[in-house]
Amino acid sequence: ITYDPKNEVLYSFMRDITQQNRAKNALRKSESNLRTIINTTTYGILILDQEGKIRFVNEAAMIFFGRSEAELLGSDFGVPVCDQDGKMEIEIFNQKQDARIINILVSKIDWQEKPATFVSLHDITEQKRTEESLRYQAYHDLLTGLPNRRAVMERIEQVLDCQHIYPNYYFALLFIDLDRFKIVNDSLGQLVGDQLLIEVAKRLKKQVTQFDYVARLSGDEFVILLENISSIEEAKTIAHDIRMDFHEPLEVAGQHIVSTVSIGIAFSSHNYKTSLEVLRDADNAMYRAKSRGKDRYEVFDQTMHTQALRSLTLERELRKALEEKQFEIYYQPIICLKTYKLMGAEALIRWHHPQEGLISPGEFIPLAEEIGIIVPLGAWVLDRVCQDLESWQPLLEKFEDFAISVNLSGRQLQMSDLCETIDQIIDQRGTNPRHLKFEITETLLIDNLEYTTMVMEHFRSRDICISIDDFGTGYSSLSYLHRLPIHTLKIDQSFVAEMQDYSENTRYPIIEAIVTLANALDILVIAEGIETLIQMQILQRLGCEFGQGYLFSRPIPERDFRAFLTGHKVLPSLPQIQG
Ligand code: C2E
Ligand code: MG
Ligand code: MG
Repeated sequence: ITYDPKNEVLYSFMRDITQQNRAKNALRKSESNLRTIINTTTYGILILDQEGKIRFVNEAAMIFFGRSEAELLGSDFGVPVCDQDGKMEIEIFNQKQDARIINILVSKIDWQEKPATFVSLHDITEQKRTEESLRYQAYHDLLTGLPNRRAVMERIEQVLDCQHIYPNYYFALLFIDLDRFKIVNDSLGQLVGDQLLIEVAKRLKKQVTQFDYVARLSGDEFVILLENISSIEEAKTIAHDIRMDFHEPLEVAGQHIVSTVSIGIAFSSHNYKTSLEVLRDADNAMYRAKSRGKDRYEVFDQTMHTQALRSLTLERELRKALEEKQFEIYYQPIICLKTYKLMGAEALIRWHHPQEGLISPGEFIPLAEEIGIIVPLGAWVLDRVCQDLESWQPLLEKFEDFAISVNLSGRQLQMSDLCETIDQIIDQRGTNPRHLKFEITETLLIDNLEYTTMVMEHFRSRDICISIDDFGTGYSSLSYLHRLPIHTLKIDQSFVAEMQDYSENTRYPIIEAIVTLANALDILVIAEGIETLIQMQILQRLGCEFGQGYLFSRPIPERDFRAFLTGHKVLPSLPQIQG
């Protein structure tokens, strides 16, 4: 409004400023909101001028850098070089010298009417650490700190890719298994077991170069991937060195523990397509090393593959065979070498395979053990034997100390309900336990001495005798013999097979020692695998009282064995012992 000197309104100009004020207020309010957001967000915010100098910082950014606004404003940040999306990750050190990983987002803006750079900073250190720790856990065995199965499988895949590009690139996978881990774990406890595994990991790492990949698969199974080697010989040398190295005791929890290793080697010459194939073959070769006596290495070859395939088929068929009752018990007579009287027999299982005919237990028992079928199968054998004993009952009266030996496998011995199962079968069939004997191989006995002793005590309490089978092959200390309720030792066939010379000056010191020891301890001795007259005569001279072998009879079906019991069939007449 304009007034003239007389204070009269000259002209008036009116404008409604309510709208303008409202807009100003709104702007002020939104600016203040923005400022609140900028200062409360955990994202650090910087605005940089064209030279990369800081022109604005929010509180979060000050906390990031551990510096005040005054210190930061005007300081040089540099213009970030980002990817197309305006993103990048950097590592910065704050004032406390903590490394932080920062995710940066950059965009171009105008700031105070000049081009500028808007930078938002997001601290992802914790997130990264969590991710890293998850990744570490996914690829490592936490006990030993070695890479795990998944890691080594991925590594093998990479090595296979490498081999496809460079045909002269060779590698080998060593599959290493401790021979006595279970015993250590069972007898000294899991803590010591874990400690042992850690020591093993260290020892293996020491044996190889930094380029070789040592990993733990599970339990006591380790692998070493030897990359870019010159030939299989190199892998063999390393396997040999590792094996020898494990003859030296490991110090664990103040104790010296020796555990040998069995090693299987898969070499790259087999045109592997997948890491699984490589691992499978190394594993197979390791099994071969175990079955050939442990503390050794074996290189995978094609015959093992064929055998592995056969095992797979057999496994399927074995499961079916149990359901369809394709098994039969054969009996092999056991003879008194002084009187040639029948003392009993060993029950030996036979499998009537619908296509392949008779399959020998040597071929399917190890597999049955591995897949656990031996447990129901073993129970079936005992039940069958008890039924046969029942049907022979009237015929047995004229025999003194007649007993049928039943083989027990390692897997059966491990079952916590073994004694119960056996008691149940015997009670159900009303079998006289005196007519039963169980055979346990020497190696089984010494591998689990404490536990087997317990089982054996149970047998003794039930009047069932125990035979130690394949005696002499286990290299065991004889000291345990007098502590255990052992009734009979069966001298392994391999010793008998060597007996070919009857002349006085040929000595058989091992058999002599076994017989003398057994006599002193009141333990009976049966020689297995007697095939010739000369073998029998040598054994008679050495004072071995009982024998079993083709010379007297092969294992025969029940009806044939019954004929011996009824007297319809007689054992071959053999020359009387001289002198
Ligand atoms: P083993 O217990 O040492 O049985 C003796 C093996 O020697 C039998 O082989 C028998 O047929 C064979 N044999 C007997 N006399 C002679 C001979 O004069 N010369 C030769 N060369 N061999 C002879 P078989 O029946 O093939 O059984 C092999 C192994 O299978 C047995 O060895 C035993 O460890 C296992 N086995 C057999 N039946 C069973 C069973 O029911 N349960 C379990 N767990 N294992 C069994
Ligand atoms: Mg036997
Ligand atoms: Mg034997």
